[in-house]
Amino acid sequence: MSLQQYIRDIQDFPKTGIVFKDITPLLLSPEATRECLALLISSLGEKKIDKVVGVESRGFFFATLLAHELNAGFIPVRKPKKLPFSTISASYALEYGTDTLEIHTDAIQKGDRVLIHDDVLATGGTAKAVCELVEKLGGEIVQCNFLMELSFLNGREKLENKEIFAAMTY
Ligand code: 5GP
Repeated sequence: MSLQQYIRDIQDFPKTGIVFKDITPLLLSPEATRECLALLISSLGEKKIDKVVGVESRGFFFATLLAHELNAGFIPVRKPKKLPFSTISASYALEYGTDTLEIHTDAIQKGDRVLIHDDVLATGGTAKAVCELVEKLGGEIVQCNFLMELSFLNGREKLENKEIFAAMTY
């Protein structure tokens, strides 16, 4: 099965000139979802994971499946003012302006082995900010994984020294 057949290109979304990779056909297919999950899990080999961090909002879908499969805790990283308890935040540059992500301060214990998951690795700004949050709380990042990597945007360069895995590469 080619997983890429479950990814739909949407022209000019959310803005003119952008070709958005839509993962909802993949989510509609239990077979493709299972295969994608199995690829992400097997990429970890024998590595033990204590916590899986999912990035709002499309990162949540597979991050909860991964956490369940790995018998690990799930941690949501969210946009500002969404998390109810005390938080720390990290900001990152967008084409115009900045964006901010937050995590609960009690989500990670020092030395926790953490898997970070998001749907897409594009320029890498989002994943880099999430790495900063996890490391600020004392977590050890075992891997950053993604459903897909848009390799032409060179996101990996922002995640130097991190292990990266993507189930699909464009
Ligand atoms: P980056 O910070 O790496 O440039 O962008 C990654 C973030 O933007 C991810 O959270 C991802 O959900 C979102 N994103 C960027 N481009 C796409 C895309 O083409 N499809 C989807 N589904 N998400 C995207």
